[in-house]
Amino acid sequence: MPKKRKSRGRAKGSAGKKSIVQCSGCGKLVPRDKAKRVTKYKSLVDPMIGRELRQQGAYIPRTKETRLYCINCAVHRNVVRVRSKDDRKAS
Ligand SMILES: [Zn+2]
Repeated sequence: MPKKRKSRGRAKGSAGKKSIVQCSGCGKLVPRDKAKRVTKYKSLVDPMIGRELRQQGAYIPRTKETRLYCINCAVHRNVVRVRSKDDRKAS
């Protein structure tokens, strides 16, 4: 049977079942190795005030925010994109 993707869209390898996580966008339950991980650094301070404080030499801590998206949400948010027709045909 022809395969659409070499990895079948997952990073599972020969492992059996992987733990399930909830999508941050729609709440769908997806396997951890299939979900797309996005890490953002966010400042707790308002950017305008933060800039002024930084000019005066203040250190403003950032918080790390990790989100996991299902494929539908990842495509919708441009985390991953649909490959061009030639790319899709090649592999
Ligand atoms: Zn989702």
